[in-house]
Amino acid sequence: MRLAILDYGLFEVYANGRRIGIPGYYMESGDRRVLVDTGFHRDYLADPLGVCLADGLGAFGRLIEYTDQQNPAAQLGLLGVSPADITDLVLTHGHIDHVGRIDEFPQATLYVSAVERIRPTPLYWNGQSRIAWPANQTVTVEAPTDIVPGVCLIPTPGHTMGHLSLVLTLPAYGTIILAADAISRPDELADDRYADAEDPRAARQSAHMQRQRAQHDAAWLVYGHCPQQWQSMRRAPYWYT
Ligand SMILES: [Zn+2]
Repeated sequence: MRLAILDYGLFEVYANGRRIGIPGYYMESGDRRVLVDTGFHRDYLADPLGVCLADGLGAFGRLIEYTDQQNPAAQLGLLGVSPADITDLVLTHGHIDHVGRIDEFPQATLYVSAVERIRPTPLYWNGQSRIAWPANQTVTVEAPTDIVPGVCLIPTPGHTMGHLSLVLTLPAYGTIILAADAISRPDELADDRYADAEDPRAARQSAHMQRQRAQHDAAWLVYGHCPQQWQSMRRAPYWYT
């Protein structure tokens, strides 16, 4: 079992000037090849500002870095892996910066929460969607689910009602919690405010649950979009083992 952290670009949030990394994750466990999240849609490559406006992101922020290397296929390439090798594709939730290239892995089994999959399209942004659900074989997740040895999906509702976090067990490193947007950055816990969440009360509960789990297991807690932590993390082709 090993983990690589993938770089899908950098986004600027106008309200606070925060520059947030857009992460993906890749894990190998036995003969299984697991990809988590897929970044922004490929349309952003040619016309980032135009597509930002079309997607209703105009007042919220903009994608300030999205090169032809900051997508799943290129990042996997750094690891010697091809998109066709992916056996399992996990969507933490359907927002615009996670779901964009979900259609590039038709052979993979897709894991998504039942509450999000039941919607006609992925959540995307602002009530509109550039993305359709792909025809992949799909497993809908409603409870903690081990998908491969060392990788467990944990429902963490609140940010979105179907949000999923991951708990990984690495042989040398120990436990790693990929909170994704259940805890976007540590200020959310420090301020105990989850204003951006679909359901702030549920988000609070999920965030506290993940922090408790991290303390209990002495785990590394990986936030969804923490600018400082993003700068400090080692990314592909580095392996956490
Ligand atoms: Zn989100």
